Amino acid sequence: MYRSLLQTIVAFAFIAQSAHCQTTDKMGFEEYEPTSTLVVPEHHITKAKYPFIDVHNHQWNMGSGSLDGLVKDMDNLNLKVMVNLSGGNGGSLKRMADNVKSQYPNRFIIFANIDFDRVGAPGWTEKAVKQLEEDVHNGANGLKVFKNLGFSVKDVNGKRVTVDDPRLDAIWEKCGELKIPVLIHTADPAPFWEPMDEHNERWLELKTHPERKRSATNPAPWETLIEEQHRMFKKHPHTTFIAAHFGWYANNLSKLDSLLTDMPNVVVEFGAVIAEIGRQPKAAKAFFTKYQDRIMFGKDSWVPEEYQTYFRVLETEDEYFPYHKKYHAFWRMYGMGLTDDILKKIYYKNALLIIPNIDKSLFPSD
Ligand SMILES: [Zn+2]
Repeated sequence: MYRSLLQTIVAFAFIAQSAHCQTTDKMGFEEYEPTSTLVVPEHHITKAKYPFIDVHNHQWNMGSGSLDGLVKDMDNLNLKVMVNLSGGNGGSLKRMADNVKSQYPNRFIIFANIDFDRVGAPGWTEKAVKQLEEDVHNGANGLKVFKNLGFSVKDVNGKRVTVDDPRLDAIWEKCGELKIPVLIHTADPAPFWEPMDEHNERWLELKTHPERKRSATNPAPWETLIEEQHRMFKKHPHTTFIAAHFGWYANNLSKLDSLLTDMPNVVVEFGAVIAEIGRQPKAAKAFFTKYQDRIMFGKDSWVPEEYQTYFRVLETEDEYFPYHKKYHAFWRMYGMGLTDDILKKIYYKNALLIIPNIDKSLFPSD
């Protein structure tokens, strides 16, 4: 049979297309982003229903310069008070506190950080306690402990300083005495310790951030680090601890429930774990109802557009909506539809009780 040129072109086009189909048959997990065909009510909330306090934020450059842009972004979200956990200590903390005081004295709260250099050197503990007192005098209203404690902080002998190291006891006690909370991040999500294979829920995060991979010897098993933290909490019952990221138990709320029952001096914030809450709206709503006095709003990374995912999970009963980072969550989310009474506690009332010196006049009186 004689084939026309047109037929030949069509035949080639068909072959080319089927070759393309073959590659899409083998599409990778990272490429697969189906558009949802589900039609349900959607509420895109760009501003929180009530003014709120974000207790987990990081601003490293607040020591100088204008804060106008930052405050404008905060206003758009209804974020009245930002808690900057990266206050440092000494002169840099004072510069930050002074800069805030001269521009927006009631819009920021600063937490100090401990300098863990040379733990175990003569007089180290006394010096750290004294520095903390000075930082609080200079305007700090809390202490933030980063995950380097437990991971990488070494003493003068090169030994890992555990989270419950007795050389740190006087610091936690001082926070109780000064009535400032300690917000502490220990370890990381447990899947970082699991084999990086097709069963690991954080496979994509480990692929894109290989330095986050951990093991039983790098530096210790996940359970060991978490247990160190809990022992420390229990040893200092007169100090209020804010377990960052729901203490990495947002994916096991019955466990977190038993821990909070066991440790009345511990409260939690949900920075970076809203995807865990959003995949179990029924269990999470029950948890938020039971612990409505011990949960605070936290976000962690400062990306203003991402706050709407948080508002949507807290405020709406929307179904099957996307999260903003596939490497945290490849699943979709559901809203809890919290009551106004609970929302107000999460958004500002609990933080007003736990963190000193927040200007109450910025929030509704009821
Ligand atoms: Zn953080």
